[in-house]
Amino acid sequence: MFKKMKGTYDILPTEVAKWQKLEKVIRNVSKIYNYKEIRTPIFEKSELFHRGVGEDTDIVSKETYDFIDRGKRANTLRPEGTAGVVRSYIENKLYTSNVPVQKMYYVGNMFRYERPQKGRYRQFSQFGAEAFGSNSPQLDAEIIAYAVSILKALKIKDVNVHINSIGDAESKKNYKEALLTYLAPDIDKLCSDCQVRYTKNPLRILDCKIDAENPILQKAPKPLDYLTETAKIHFVKTCNYLTAMGINYTVDTSLVRGLDYYTHTVFEVKANLDTLGAQNTICGGGRYNNLVKSLEGPDTPGVGFAFGLERLMFALESINFTGDPDYLHLYMMILGEDQKEDGLQLVNRCRLGGLYTDLDFLDKGMKGKWKQAANLKARFVAIFGEEEQKNGTINIKDQETGKEETIKKTQLYNYVVAELMKPSSNCEGCSTESCDECEDV
Ligand code: ATP
Ligand code: MG
Repeated sequence: MFKKMKGTYDILPTEVAKWQKLEKVIRNVSKIYNYKEIRTPIFEKSELFHRGVGEDTDIVSKETYDFIDRGKRANTLRPEGTAGVVRSYIENKLYTSNVPVQKMYYVGNMFRYERPQKGRYRQFSQFGAEAFGSNSPQLDAEIIAYAVSILKALKIKDVNVHINSIGDAESKKNYKEALLTYLAPDIDKLCSDCQVRYTKNPLRILDCKIDAENPILQKAPKPLDYLTETAKIHFVKTCNYLTAMGINYTVDTSLVRGLDYYTHTVFEVKANLDTLGAQNTICGGGRYNNLVKSLEGPDTPGVGFAFGLERLMFALESINFTGDPDYLHLYMMILGEDQKEDGLQLVNRCRLGGLYTDLDFLDKGMKGKWKQAANLKARFVAIFGEEEQKNGTINIKDQETGKEETIKKTQLYNYVVAELMKPSSNCEGCSTESCDECEDV
């Protein structure tokens, strides 16, 4: 028997409804914030990720799925979404659009060769957003508000937004110098990865998971203390705008994004839910004013975030999030071989009209057919046998009320639609639009 590859998972038909609902919420909230969906390829030139994510990140140095294609080109399965979106933004010259601030989101699979564990897979999905073309702190605040709105719409309550600023190029240069000077005498007391980072990318030392509790790092200088006046104003305004929008946040002075093109705001959203286990960061984001330029585009600022959807799903477990229920409007029982052609015409008519309709393909007996109708949660069951065929009728039963009638077979579709339009027995007669009971009608 073939087994799925390590670090991958199936979403079975019985589980897919909650993923669809999650995506529906994401799309609705994105519409509210006026972010448009973009779909980019699942693989790109390897070079794009080397430059767009950074050679010395864990992602590029240890986690990419690389392959050489038959044309001897170096390809990489995308480990994250931003690089592809930036590539597309530049290649399609979206910066020339008559909408100068381009706001986009994506939902899709990403691939990282990691050690699989709860909340960490080799194929996983992300929902991410990117906004290009403005350096306004309003956009930093909006992107955080957008991320928080997703969680609110999903009714995930126990979350913390951690934010920090690493400032502009000058702030980062000053900070880097201060950090290097501070760490120089203690460099051998840091983990081996951090010793490499010291020469390659010192900012990422603050992000080290191994040294997180190390007092040397806890006492290290903080980026906020090295912000230039402009960068300070950017950060203060971002915070003020968040407060104005009623968004709670914690300033986390050690939060960083280590790469050169990250600037100003960085943020993470953590959820305090048992169902998440150790992987409780569900969203990470920030401003990357130098990324578009570093990928050979115009000097255009950007800001974005990415959610891990599996972790969101684990967070949703604790609040009993369910998808839309599965059901059929109609289950058709065709009783004999001679009734199949006429019966199929009836099924076809109902399906053309949009009724969720199914039938028996195994020629089961009546008991088996009724069992199927119940398992498939059919609201109506139609029975079409020899007698009905002879009389041009069909027998129809409402599984919810028990009402059974014989009607003209040509009336089947209209009958089911009319019955579905009636307020359900659980409904107290309100207008169909706002009523949960009637919503599916
Ligand atoms: P971590 O520190 O957990 O490895 P990261 O810094 O690598 O996260 P990002 O690259 O910022 O993560 O990706 C954004 C989000 O994508 C993360 O916050 C997480 O929710 C999710 N994510 C990242 N890697 C994985 C993975 N291997 N499996 C599932 N989700 C992931
Ligand atoms: Mg990672």
